Amino acid sequence: MVEIKTPEQIAKMRAAGLVVAAMHKACAEAAVPGASTKELDEIAAKVLSDHGAKPNFLGYGGFPGNICTSVNDVVVHGIPDRETILRSGDIISIDAGAIVDGWHGDAAITVFVGDGHAPELHELSRVTEESMWAGIAAFRGGDRLVDISKAIESYIRRQPRPATGKYGIIEEYGGHGIGSQMHMDPHLLNYVTCKRGRGPKLVPGMCLAIEPMVSLGAATTHVLEDDWTVKTDDGTWACHWEHSVALTEQGPLVLTAVDGGKAKLAEYGVTAAPDPLA
Ligand code: MG
Repeated sequence: MVEIKTPEQIAKMRAAGLVVAAMHKACAEAAVPGASTKELDEIAAKVLSDHGAKPNFLGYGGFPGNICTSVNDVVVHGIPDRETILRSGDIISIDAGAIVDGWHGDAAITVFVGDGHAPELHELSRVTEESMWAGIAAFRGGDRLVDISKAIESYIRRQPRPATGKYGIIEEYGGHGIGSQMHMDPHLLNYVTCKRGRGPKLVPGMCLAIEPMVSLGAATTHVLEDDWTVKTDDGTWACHWEHSVALTEQGPLVLTAVDGGKAKLAEYGVTAAPDPLA
């Protein structure tokens, strides 16, 4: 069953989404060479408490952080700690979440630490982020869930291939419904498979976390002994971008984007729904 939200509930999710955006802004500024991933976690915790919001990552299945900090060949679910010190040339996915009045927000950004990154890493991040926007622009009433998967995959496959051969669209993880819980039905693949069918029809009141994860090589991953950290099987680096999005009667509202997705969706000819909190 897919949870359908009222406009009032979407407004609460917007409040949670703006807290997540504030967590990202603060963490991105602090992701400099010499910083530990634990320091980023502490900054995220402070933003949560400053906004009177609750963490949804902390304690989720026993997860020990307020955010996931996934560096280089770690795709997702990296645990913040004092031993992981960021170096110039690293990339880090910062996945953050917040609860306001019982309603959840969840988003991820990939941040470039310092400088000296290979151009193909910038291109990997651009392709991953842009495929997310292609997916968000495909979140349209009357279409099916698979149309979002198709938009993400086809965006990635339309891009020039990296020197390493082919972008790996990570297979074991994907997007999800979000609302009164962080992870809800439906599961959203970042590629199309004949096995899953077309999925539910997209209707106003649905909220989805849309989150492509793309590597410079393998689409397959493994989990480390800590039971959380997910790395690419071939050691190639990966990017991860995510927004929580509500479909309203007026179109999509990107809950975790400061401008509600207005600027980026306009590039796709889509008008973002008005911000209920503006
Ligand atoms: Mg998510």
